[in-house]
Amino acid sequence: MYEELIDRLSRTGALSAEEYLVLIQNRESVREALAERARTARERFYGNRIYIRGLIEFTNYCKNNCYYCGIRAGNTAAERYRLSPEEITGAADTGYDLGFRTFVLQGGEDPFYTDEMLADIVRTIKTRHPDCAVTLSLGERDFESYRRLREAGADRYLLRHETANPAHYATLHPAAMRFENRLRCIRDLKSLGFQVGIGFMVGSPGQTDRDLADELLFLKEMQPHMVGIGPFLPHQNTPFRGEAAGSAELTCFLLSLIRLTLPSVLLPATTALGTADPLGREKGIMAGANVLMPNLSPVSVRKKYLLYDGKICTGEEAAQCIECLKNRVRKTGCEIVVAKGDHPDRAD
Ligand code: SAH
Repeated sequence: MYEELIDRLSRTGALSAEEYLVLIQNRESVREALAERARTARERFYGNRIYIRGLIEFTNYCKNNCYYCGIRAGNTAAERYRLSPEEITGAADTGYDLGFRTFVLQGGEDPFYTDEMLADIVRTIKTRHPDCAVTLSLGERDFESYRRLREAGADRYLLRHETANPAHYATLHPAAMRFENRLRCIRDLKSLGFQVGIGFMVGSPGQTDRDLADELLFLKEMQPHMVGIGPFLPHQNTPFRGEAAGSAELTCFLLSLIRLTLPSVLLPATTALGTADPLGREKGIMAGANVLMPNLSPVSVRKKYLLYDGKICTGEEAAQCIECLKNRVRKTGCEIVVAKGDHPDRAD
């Protein structure tokens, strides 16, 4: 009986919330069939190519207090750091030599970096490496700020919505953070021509299977270019320290559903997935993911960008990370490529 649902999802990329829920609740029975279809869908757009993005975590200062996040302002035990513009552009230079053609600048919401400073950094990277894409992941800003960053040459922006259920959103964030503003940001970014990535945590406290079914409808409606999902993992210095972690299995299952719902989407197997399960990233690729985001930050600050406990890859140099990942990816039958890796709708 699940065959018909899997078939229709693969053909049309759409199910009702009730139908997604049936698959989610019976995931043990349908996991492998869905993963196989997801791999086929991925191959149609990307062959066996896996794109890599060099992640530069340039500040762990944050003015927000998200209940799940280890770099929340209220975590007074966190050792804070900021990278200088030279350190940021230098990390991109190192990444270029290692074969990266996309750089992701991510940080807490840190007012220290003005629009002007950020625009300068983006311009420098784009000037030195015109064949590369710059992705920003700086949280919520106003339209004018996004506009200036886009004008400076930023190509893409990652801003996870975290949950598509506004009532659930309000239990993960303090009242000052509004779901409506998150949506406003995502719409602004789209209207400015960024390739936009959204996404949610899997197994965050209070999330139901019905919420997960609704996530798929939300993604379909929003039509993002990228979708980042990963299991929620507790951090010891947050209000959610005692909450259960989300599972790697459920995350991989959702990766397959997302691949079939938005077949051409850029879909990373995230560091959180690799933390929840030592083979999580390989399993994510086998479930339909096509992007990896290794860390390019200087090793001296890696351990300080701790969103959750136990984060992997905080000790190695970027060069070692990339060798390790190449080997892991090869075992899935896929291959890491040196390419900018735009969404097919945006490729030159
Ligand atoms: N300040 C930026 C970057 C946030 S960190 C922004 O607001 O977009 C990137 C992502 O890490 C978040 O969007 C969130 O989904 C994820 N994250 C944060 N804490 C986490 C935790 N404890 N477990 C799993 N993922 C987490």
